Amino acid sequence: MPEIEEYIEEIRELWDSHWLTNMGSKHQLLEAQLVDYLTVPNVTLFTNGHLALECIIAAMDLKGEVITTPFTFASTTHAIVRNGLKPVFCDINPDDYTIDVKKIESLITDQTSAIIPVHVYGNICDVEAIEVIAKKHNLKVIYDAAHTFGVTVNGHGIGNFGDASMFSFHATKVFNTIEGGAVTYNDSSLKQILIDLKNFGITGTDTVGYVGGNAKMNEFQAAMGICNLRHVNNEIIKRKKVVERYKSHLKDVTGIKLTQDQVDVESNYAYFPVVFEEYKMTRDEVYNKLMTNDIIARKYFYPLTNSFECYQELYDKGKTPVAEYIADRVLTLPLYADLPLEEVDRICQIIKS
Ligand SMILES: *Cc1c(COP(=O)(O)O)cnc(C)c1O
Repeated sequence: MPEIEEYIEEIRELWDSHWLTNMGSKHQLLEAQLVDYLTVPNVTLFTNGHLALECIIAAMDLKGEVITTPFTFASTTHAIVRNGLKPVFCDINPDDYTIDVKKIESLITDQTSAIIPVHVYGNICDVEAIEVIAKKHNLKVIYDAAHTFGVTVNGHGIGNFGDASMFSFHATKVFNTIEGGAVTYNDSSLKQILIDLKNFGITGTDTVGYVGGNAKMNEFQAAMGICNLRHVNNEIIKRKKVVERYKSHLKDVTGIKLTQDQVDVESNYAYFPVVFEEYKMTRDEVYNKLMTNDIIARKYFYPLTNSFECYQELYDKGKTPVAEYIADRVLTLPLYADLPLEEVDRICQIIKS
C-alpha cells in the first residue's frame, strides 16, 4: 500500500468532482500510464482480472474448444467455461510450469478456436513457439498474464505477445488497485467492444448492442493504482532481494527443486515456488510444519482445475501428469517486498531442519 497521505491526496479531487466511477479522470490517467509502463499499444481496465479475461474471450467471439492448462488459478478455466466454451487441457513442462508447447498440436481439432496459456509465477510461456502454432492453425491466443505484471522479454513488455493478455491487479499481486485488472491487446478495434462489454453492452444513449456485464474499475481503485505504480519498480527490486535470500538458503538442498531463471526475461519476482521432490518431508508435511510456526505458505496451484469438484467426471487429470506431479509437490513461500530477510532465514531454517 502507498502511504495513506499519498492516497488521500490522490482521491481528494473526487470530493470536488463527485465522479466516482464510469471511466472518470483517474481511470483515464491510470490507463494511459499503464500503456507506458507495460509498453503496449492498448490497455483497457476492469474491476478485476477475472472479468477482464471473461470480457476479452467474449470480445473475440470464440467458439468450440480452447486449449489451456490446468496448472492455474480457478479463474482461467472458469472464464473459458462461463463463455460457453470447452477447455481442452494441455500438460505443462517440468521446468517453468507453463504450457508444454510440444503437446499443443496433438490437441487441436476442427473445433479449436484459441489457446489460453498461463504465464506462471513470473515465468513466461514459450511465446514464440505458441505464435508459430497459432498462425499455422489460425487460432487466437489470449495469455493469462495475471502473474507477470511488468515482466519484459528482451526489453519487450510481456503484454505484447499473442492477441491479448489479461493482467490482475488484485491485492495479492505485484501491482494492485485493491481489486482490478486489465487487458492489453494489439488490435485497436477491440477497444470499443471491451468498453461496451464491461458496461452492460451499452453502445449508445438508447442502444444496447451486446449482452454485457458490469466490470468497470472505479475511481478509488484507479487512484490506488496511480499511487502504487509510482513505487512498483522499487517493490520489484525489494522482492528480488527476498528471492535471492531464499535461493541462497535453498539452492543446494537435496530434494528441493527451485525454478531456473529464464534467459532474456526480466522477472517481477511474483512468487517463490519450491518443489519438494524426494525430500525428507512431503510438501504437506512442510506446509503443516510452517503453519505450526505461524508461517503461511500456499499450495499454489493445487488442486489442478481439471480435478475441481465442479468439473467432476468431465476431465481426467491423469491426462496432464506433469501438472499433477508438480501440483502435488509445490509450495509457494511467503514473498512480499517488506518481508524482512531475517524472516526468510527463519523460514528456510524451519524447512531445512
Ligand atoms: C489472480 C489471478 C487471476 C484472477 O485475477 P483477479 O484479479 O483476482 O480476478 C487469474 N489468473 C491467475 C493465474 C491469477 O493468479
